[in-house]
Amino acid sequence: MDQALQKKLIEAIATTVIAHADELTRLDQQIGDGDHGLNMKRGFDAVLADIDNLAAKSLPEAAKAIGTMLVMKVGGASGPLYGTLFLALAKALPADGEPVATARAFADAVEAVKARGKSQEGQKTLLDVLVPVGTEFAAGGDRLAARVKARAFAAADGTVAMKAARGRASFLGERSIGHMDPGARSASLMIAAVCDVVGG
Ligand code: ADP
Ligand code: MG
Repeated sequence: MDQALQKKLIEAIATTVIAHADELTRLDQQIGDGDHGLNMKRGFDAVLADIDNLAAKSLPEAAKAIGTMLVMKVGGASGPLYGTLFLALAKALPADGEPVATARAFADAVEAVKARGKSQEGQKTLLDVLVPVGTEFAAGGDRLAARVKARAFAAADGTVAMKAARGRASFLGERSIGHMDPGARSASLMIAAVCDVVGG
């Protein structure tokens, strides 16, 4: 992937997350401890501060560096989980961003997040976005970026009706129903940012 596009991609993910930090915090105040926005902002501020260095790396090396930063900086439950996503992507991503191999890498990375979180789809977490996005991505075909983005937002909306079975929100039991999962929202924002850049 050319450096300018890679820089744009990483910047888009980081700036989107940072721009929505207050919203993520509000969502986490509803069913968690209210730190998700700040956690994510801390991680992606570090990413932006290192953007030129990250853009100069190969795509897998950049994913590895981002994953390491997220593990170190984000904290909470989401830091290790998003860190795992990027570190697993680093192991499997093709350097040229070829779509079929990239979709396969994404599927592997989602499996790694499941293993790290001891979690799966349906538990009102970021996996409720990552899993359907992986399915849509793997399907390929026309207007893929637009379809993946729409699927990500719909999937985050879908967590409103779910009862949390993992993370802090699970302590609320039935009372977690009726609120969007903050991690699902942040995942949908990151996916949408990627889709906007690669979809033109
Ligand atoms: P914390 O819950 O430690 O305060 P954050 O607020 O940063 O951490 O992140 C909360 C988000 O992490 C949740 O909204 C959920 O999407 C995700 N999460 C928490 N635990 C798990 C898990 N075991 N598996 C997958 N995702 C999880
Ligand atoms: Mg929290």
